[in-house]
Amino acid sequence: MTRRRSSYRSLASLQRDNRVCRACAEAGYPLESLPVVHGHAEQRAYLLGQAPGVVEGEERRPWRGRAGRTLRRWLDLDEEQFYATFYCASVTRCYPGRPETGRGDRTPTPREQALCAFWREWELRLLRPELVVTVGGLAARRLLGFGSISECVGATFELGGCRVVPLPHPSGASGWLNDAANRARLDQAAALVRRELGRLGSMEPGG
Ligand code: SF4
Repeated sequence: MTRRRSSYRSLASLQRDNRVCRACAEAGYPLESLPVVHGHAEQRAYLLGQAPGVVEGEERRPWRGRAGRTLRRWLDLDEEQFYATFYCASVTRCYPGRPETGRGDRTPTPREQALCAFWREWELRLLRPELVVTVGGLAARRLLGFGSISECVGATFELGGCRVVPLPHPSGASGWLNDAANRARLDQAAALVRRELGRLGSMEPGG
């Protein structure tokens, strides 16, 4: 049974409740994993993806598959650096399964996104990150209100006193990165993330 308190005083207690959340299943959605959340209160950088994939759902650890390897390559981080640097969250936190077409992963419905916003809002309130990196169009839309990643990749934004840098999704499912101009915008965005991480002391600038 899903438990949501009216307020939380620590990330540890928030994560404890988030990790057993079944709100979407209780609302009738066909989830195929338990929630995937990874991070701790000392991290200053927050990574917001769309939803875990099948591998992440099985391992209950984010960014384990091919998309995660691509993302780390973009940011020039090895696995250890990546997980030490980022508090990893996503718009929804349970593997949503396949769509009826059988291709790719199902995009979480607006209702599931709204149900899961509770956990993100409390995380951001308790963690108070200095840098947020959104990954993919859905995360940029939910956090910044952009209709498309073409409107925001390559720029930095301010949100509630922290910097936000959007990245495209590394799965390549959308074909957005087939365009040379978009690949140049990705390079710019990745450089912005590395620079912000350097500013936070999470890694060497330009490394
Ligand atoms: S997607 Fe989010 S709100 Fe839905 S069951 Fe998983 S953790 Fe809960």
